[in-house]
Amino acid sequence: MNFQFSPEHEQIRETVRRHAETELAPLVRAAEEGESFPNHIFRRWGELGLLGVRYPEADGGAGFDKIADCIVREELSRVCQAFASSWSAHSHLALWPIWRAGTPDQKTRFFRPGMKGERIAGFALSEPDGGSDIRSLRTAARKVEGGYRLKGSKLYITNAPMGDFLLLAARTRPELTPSAISLFIVELPSAGLMVSKLEKEGIRGSETGLIYLDDVFVPDDCLLGGSEGTYPVILDSLSENRVGVAANCLGMARGAMEAALRYARDRQVRGQPIGRFQVIAHKLADMAADIEAANWLVYYGAWRVDQGTIDAATVAKVKLVASETALRVTEAAIRIHGGAGIMREYPVGRFHRDALVYVIGEGTSEVQRNLIARGLGL
Ligand SMILES: Cc1cc2nc3c(=O)[nH]c(=O)nc-3n(C[C@H](O)[C@H](O)[C@H](O)COP(=O)(O)OP(=O)(O)OC[C@H]3O[C@@H](n4cnc5c(N)ncnc54)[C@H](O)[C@@H]3O)c2cc1C
Repeated sequence: MNFQFSPEHEQIRETVRRHAETELAPLVRAAEEGESFPNHIFRRWGELGLLGVRYPEADGGAGFDKIADCIVREELSRVCQAFASSWSAHSHLALWPIWRAGTPDQKTRFFRPGMKGERIAGFALSEPDGGSDIRSLRTAARKVEGGYRLKGSKLYITNAPMGDFLLLAARTRPELTPSAISLFIVELPSAGLMVSKLEKEGIRGSETGLIYLDDVFVPDDCLLGGSEGTYPVILDSLSENRVGVAANCLGMARGAMEAALRYARDRQVRGQPIGRFQVIAHKLADMAADIEAANWLVYYGAWRVDQGTIDAATVAKVKLVASETALRVTEAAIRIHGGAGIMREYPVGRFHRDALVYVIGEGTSEVQRNLIARGLGL
């Protein structure tokens, strides 16, 4: 067993941390208050190679492993989870299936420009009738001359209001099996497609949309891989992304913990820093221990992805523990700040609102527990 990051991994961490602290941090307040994502960041991420971390060098990526992907996520989320969520929806959820199953033409038109940050993508699976249950997916794709007509709606879609295209799941057959669902690349804007931006309590600096599709025409060459029934392609991608999302949660917890520690050292009450009160010191000790446990579970999950041995129950444990840790740690960070924790001047309230999104998004904690229980044979 080796619990050390390689020098290459440490180098990635240092590069992303510097970028996040110097280039992203100054943009956070305006993005949060304006509830708008600063699109130019995607081009910068493209220049830095951050959108192609996991893709092979032969395909224009950096060729790194899942551990590197988790380090990038952790460092982005340590500064701003809203930006990290846009990164994740684009560089993983939308681009990965195109890289895995797209035709050469789809890779040239969508994957390559996506990896350079020239075109921004979103991933549209969830619908108003349910995000947790794939069987409730209703958006239908009807075959017509030269393509398909899509009718339905998609809810809570990250990057939809400011993106250039979507990887969208729609039913091409009525059965309730995954292979009755196909994936389409849908240009934004498209005739008959309406996006309305939603107002959110968490990750406010990312843009999330409700999408209506009213007989939207999608040409044959935008059916992913040129064949129907490709939904199973995204099952691996969703599972791997959950391990990545756990790294996002770890980053939020770390950001909140660091802010709380600074505050506990600086804030004087009765002539001493509040960190000297045992009740505050113990709270910080619990937070540090919680983060350490989540840290090693997340990187164990990443290592299992790299070994090709990850299973659904392990993914669920990693996501459940990291997201619930982030929620606990960010709440404790607010309490340590007292009234200041409620003020926007301090980042801990934002970290907590953002952490709440992740006990829901990418599969709720209840759904993770179902998967773990299934692994126990229940
Ligand atoms: C900010 C944000 C961004 C998002 N971005 C995207 C995106 O880019 N693309 C995308 O496709 N989706 C996205 N989502 C959707 C997200 O994945 C869903 O919200 C999530 O899967 C939960 O689905 P739901 O909201 O429909 O809740 P529901 O499925 O309606 O669940 C409601 C409640 O019922 C519980 N529940 C549901 N089923 C079960 C069960 N079988 N057993 C026990 N309890 C259960 C849930 O745990 C939850 O507590 C985003 C969501 C948010 C909040």
